[in-house]
Amino acid sequence: MIRAESLCVGYEKRAVVRDADLQIAPGEVVALIGPNGSGKTTLMRALARTLLPLSGTLSLDGRPYNEYPPTEFARRVGYAPQETPVEMGFRVEELVMMGRYPHQRGFWGATAQDDAVVESALEFVGLSHLRHRLISQLSGGERQRVNLARALAQQAQYLLLDEPNAHLDLHHQVQLLSRLREQVAKIGVGVLVSLHDLNLASEYADRVMLMVNGQLVQTGTPNEVLQPDILEEVYHTPTLVRQNPLTGKPLVFPLRAEIIPQLPAEAPFAFVVGGGGSGTELFYPLMEAGWRVGTGVLNLMDTDEEVARTLGLEPIIEQPFSPIGEASFAKACEQACSAHAVVVADVPFGNGNLRNLELVLHACRAGTPVVLLELRPFSERDYTGGRATELWHQIRALGAQVARSYPELLEILSRLARQTCPY
Ligand code: ADP
Repeated sequence: MIRAESLCVGYEKRAVVRDADLQIAPGEVVALIGPNGSGKTTLMRALARTLLPLSGTLSLDGRPYNEYPPTEFARRVGYAPQETPVEMGFRVEELVMMGRYPHQRGFWGATAQDDAVVESALEFVGLSHLRHRLISQLSGGERQRVNLARALAQQAQYLLLDEPNAHLDLHHQVQLLSRLREQVAKIGVGVLVSLHDLNLASEYADRVMLMVNGQLVQTGTPNEVLQPDILEEVYHTPTLVRQNPLTGKPLVFPLRAEIIPQLPAEAPFAFVVGGGGSGTELFYPLMEAGWRVGTGVLNLMDTDEEVARTLGLEPIIEQPFSPIGEASFAKACEQACSAHAVVVADVPFGNGNLRNLELVLHACRAGTPVVLLELRPFSERDYTGGRATELWHQIRALGAQVARSYPELLEILSRLARQTCPY
C-alpha cells in the first residue's frame, strides 16, 4: 500500500499540496481529478519520489519511503510523468528499456527476459512498429505512450500515471484504460492515474480523489464524488449527471451557465405533471419560451427530478418507489392551482402516480387552464384499469385543451400567456 499522511509538497518551500492523506492499495485504480493547477502533478511527483515533501509522511508497504534504496523503490513504483522525456537522442525501445534498469545487475546488460518485457510493454501501448524510431520523431501522443511503456516495463506493483491520456485520441484513451484495468485484475497492481476526463475517471476508477487548490477535498466512489453540486463548486460549471445505461456509472455533461434561462418573477408560471423523463422534454422548451416552471409530484431520483434540479427548478418530490403522500400532494395542488397553466406531459399513469391526475382535476376545477399533451392515445398509457381514463375524461370535460405535438403545445401556451399574463 502507498500511504501519504499530512503530506505537504511544494517548490522552494512554497506549499502547493497541503495536508494530503491518501492510500493506494494493490488491485485498485484510483483516479486523481481536479482543475488545472490544483496540484495533481505535484502530488504525483512526491508519490513518485521525484520531489521531496516539505512535511508529512510517505510509506510504501508499511516502510517509510526513505528506507528504500532508489532501485528497490523503482522496482515497486513505476511513474509515467506528463512531460516528454528529455532523452531525445534515444530510440523508442532504448527508452522503454530504461524501465528495466532497476531489475538489471551491474553491467551485464539486458537479458532475454528484459527484451521480452520491453516487447510486451511496447505491444501494450501499441508502439511495437515504432520501436526503432527516435523519440524526437514521435508525436505527442506517441511520446506519451512511450512514457507509459517505460513505466510498465518496470513491472512495478504500483503505477503512478500523470495524464496518460492527454494526447491520445478516443480509441487509444479507451484502449489504454481498459488494458490497464485488465492488468489490475490480472496481477493486482495498484494504479493512481490523473485524468481530466471525468467520464473516463468514472468508468475506469474504483475510487476518485478530487483535488482543489492543493487539497484533496473528496475521496470516494465515482458515484459519491461525481455529483452536480460538488462539480459545480469546483469547476464553476453546472453539470448534468446521468447514469451510463450500460455500466451504471455516472456520466457527466458540462453545461454552459448561460444555457439555463433566467426568468423574471413576473414571468408566467407553468406547473408540469411528468415523470420518467416525459417532463424533461418540456422543462427547457417552456423556460426558453419564457415560462417559469414548477413540477411534481416526482419520485426522488426520477430522471425528471434530476433534470429539474439541474435547471434550477424546485420539484415537489416523494421518496423513491413511494406513493404520493398527503404533504407532497397538497404542495403540488397549491402550485398547480396558482399556476398560469398546468401542462400534463405524455406520461403513463399507474397506481403510483394516479394522484397527479387528481391534482390536475383539482386545478382544473379551481380555474387553472390545463393543457394535455397527447402524443399517443391516452388509453395506451392507462395502467390503472380505467381509473386514469375516467379522470382524463373529467379533465377534458372541464375544458382542458389537448396538444398533439410539442409545437402545438407551445402555441397553446403562448396564447394562454398573452391572455392570462400580459407582462
Ligand atoms: P495540476 O497537475 O493539477 O495542473 P500542478 O501540480 O502542475 O497542478 O501545479 C500546481 C501549482 O504548482 C501551480 O500553481 C503551478 O504553477 C505550480 N508549479 C508546478 N510546477 C512547479 C515548479 N517546478 N516550480 C514552481 N511551481 C510549480
